[in-house]
Amino acid sequence: MRLKELRKRPPHAVLFKGAKGIGKFDLAMNFAQSLLCQQPGESELACGKCRSCHWFEQETHPDFRLLQPEASSLNGGESESGKKPGKHITVDQVRALADFVGMSAHQGGSRVVVIHPAEAMNANAANALLKNLEEPPQGMLYILVSHKPQQLLPTIRSRCQSFALSAPDTASATLWLKEQGVKHPANTLAASGFAPLLAVQLDEQLGSEERDKLLRAVRKPASLDVFALAEALQKTEQVLVVQWLQQWSFDLNSMKLSGRLRYHPGEEDTIKMLVGPVAPLNLARLQKLLLTAKREAQHTLNPKLFFESLLLVYRQLMLE
Ligand SMILES: [Zn+2]
Repeated sequence: MRLKELRKRPPHAVLFKGAKGIGKFDLAMNFAQSLLCQQPGESELACGKCRSCHWFEQETHPDFRLLQPEASSLNGGESESGKKPGKHITVDQVRALADFVGMSAHQGGSRVVVIHPAEAMNANAANALLKNLEEPPQGMLYILVSHKPQQLLPTIRSRCQSFALSAPDTASATLWLKEQGVKHPANTLAASGFAPLLAVQLDEQLGSEERDKLLRAVRKPASLDVFALAEALQKTEQVLVVQWLQQWSFDLNSMKLSGRLRYHPGEEDTIKMLVGPVAPLNLARLQKLLLTAKREAQHTLNPKLFFESLLLVYRQLMLE
């Protein structure tokens, strides 16, 4: 079923699912705006001119709510209280919808709630939402956006009409990235796991000094100065560093097993030489270690120590 048909008989809840960074959230927002638009065009896109569109763009539309973790609305910065912003959508946020849900639509038409990413709802929040989904008022549409739909409550999933969204093909994504001013569109797209929006973010990081420093150092495990590198990286976001190492380790494995690279195209020779003497089991261990590290990275208190222990194990596994 296509979105266009959805518009004629909107269900109470839809789920946009698919990989991160392919534009699900933008699609959800555009769709929401077009449903609220007072004079959608022939293609049923929002006009961008009416009062409703104006409100929407100013983020003041009375018939629209966006639920997302505090952390994403603050761009990851610290909240005023000095506490770290939450990474979950809380039960209070869902309960705060009660007034909105209880009222009738200001503009007499639809009302839309976008929840992004839906898996960020903790258990209480999800249960509270479930109640809303059970008895939705007329004209109310919930749009859930999820990169990890398997983490949603099955009872929530079953109340949503699902749309699996896939990434655009490589050629059009590369072209689009080029238009966005990304310098090496093909490489960046590959490094992002073929998710164009992530690729744009990555483009900013790719030029980063820290990433270059890290990748230069891990190329030569024998002369890797673990402590100096950990010190140089200590101001860099831990999750990001683990991600760079994960991509590096993915390619080490991939070279060993299939002779192909995904994230570091053009570096076949270097990586082939590097993994030649390394046991496949060690490469598998490295990947597993980084998977655990990614979870720990979010609440480690001493980044320097955290990087040191990661790099020590890396060096050991590569030289054993
Ligand atoms: Zn409009």
